[in-house]
Amino acid sequence: MTAPNMEELVSLCKRRGFIFQSGEIYGGVRGLYDFGPMGVELKNNLKQAWWAEMVYSRDDVEGLDASILTHPQALYYSGHEDTFTDPLVDCRKCKRRFRADHLSSAKCPNCGSEDLTDPRPFNLMFKTNVGPVEDEDSFAYLRPETAQAIFMNFKNILDTRSKSLPFGIAQIGKAFRNEITPRNFIFRVREFEQMELEFFVEPGTDEDWHRLWVDKRMEWWQSQGIAPNQLERYDVPADEIAHYSKATVDVMYRFPHGLEELEGIANRTDFDLGSHTKQQDTLEINAKVIQNEHSTTKLAIQDQNTKKWIVPYVIEPSAGVDRGVLAILNDAYQIETLDNGKTRTVLSLKPHLAPIKTAVIPLKQNHDGIMSKASALRRQLQKLKFGRVLLETSGNIGKSYRKHDEVGTPFCVTVDFQTLDDETVTIRDRDTMGQDRVNISKLADLLQSRLD
Ligand code: ATP
Repeated sequence: MTAPNMEELVSLCKRRGFIFQSGEIYGGVRGLYDFGPMGVELKNNLKQAWWAEMVYSRDDVEGLDASILTHPQALYYSGHEDTFTDPLVDCRKCKRRFRADHLSSAKCPNCGSEDLTDPRPFNLMFKTNVGPVEDEDSFAYLRPETAQAIFMNFKNILDTRSKSLPFGIAQIGKAFRNEITPRNFIFRVREFEQMELEFFVEPGTDEDWHRLWVDKRMEWWQSQGIAPNQLERYDVPADEIAHYSKATVDVMYRFPHGLEELEGIANRTDFDLGSHTKQQDTLEINAKVIQNEHSTTKLAIQDQNTKKWIVPYVIEPSAGVDRGVLAILNDAYQIETLDNGKTRTVLSLKPHLAPIKTAVIPLKQNHDGIMSKASALRRQLQKLKFGRVLLETSGNIGKSYRKHDEVGTPFCVTVDFQTLDDETVTIRDRDTMGQDRVNISKLADLLQSRLD
């Protein structure tokens, strides 16, 4: 078995309907991708698995889905307006722009010229206007991370869900960064999704919680099918961590282009709640915050025993959905050499992530009896609600199996002439390629138990 290179993955994604270049018919837009029929299922399954782990399996986490357009003051007090920048270098000859920290020499990677400008800060946030008048007072940002809306809703959630420390707020949603050099397929893009948990803890317990969340997140990626030797933890050095963080550990994954960040777990201290809060002077805030004259709300929690107001520390596991999809596809992709010397490409996805859980294949597509039996069986299996069940009518049986191996469908069920006589079908296992003949009445239980 061999792991793929990036070209092979990109080609599979396009060929089988996982991921397409956005705006391709007009030449495409760099750093933007669209998820096709298989991609959207895989992405949704990954997000659902994260939500089940972070929200449903716990008693101390609540969910949120906040707006993407963000009040400029939120991103001023969060520090993003001032610090969310990358150093940028322009080539005076070919006029291309590059991130200074991505240049390996003092030459332009495009034309080789040495006539480059000094690095200048470039803000990564996208701006737009809200309302009918386009002026400097009506602008809003497309959020560069989902986290800020969680901090701004801290009191709303506390008031409605009566929480005590420690507790968390989870959110999955789009984030936007005007990356100077988007690259490596969906690894670094300009529009992406994040799965973020802000876990609020008592100051002083933050380091223990940070360690715990790092361990949990490393384990979770493995439970999604990623081999342990593909992951590494990286303690981000103090001079590289974000402005809000006291300590950050990255979960690194061996992507086809190298070992890079899949998820970051930061100890954001009391920086964000402290920055967005009213009455900063009356509270004990450890982080260096900007004096806030605009916030209307105190983002703190009262200790039930001492009645003292505490600004909690926050631990933030922040994962990228798109990088997650890329890592999972990369780990699942195998080219196997079969006994007869031929090869097959197979995505060995965990069943809960597979875009299609079962494909029902009619052996003859021009035979009314077989077609209507297959169609009825698909509808019956779909009602079991374990995910998408598809009627596969696009080719002969061999081609159908190959196609479903490539999109990671765990089971193919074939309806043939014998089915019409004795109500039996064949069920083929993606990984072993073994085939069993089973009665339709037993199929639901069998699939359910194997998919679980
Ligand atoms: P990097 O150093 O790679 O730019 P980051 O440290 O800025 O990433 P965070 O701000 O910690 O990233 O964001 C949390 C997660 O969001 C990252 O671990 C990553 O999975 C995802 N992410 C961030 N930027 C991008 C991007 N441009 N494209 C795709 N995913 C991204």
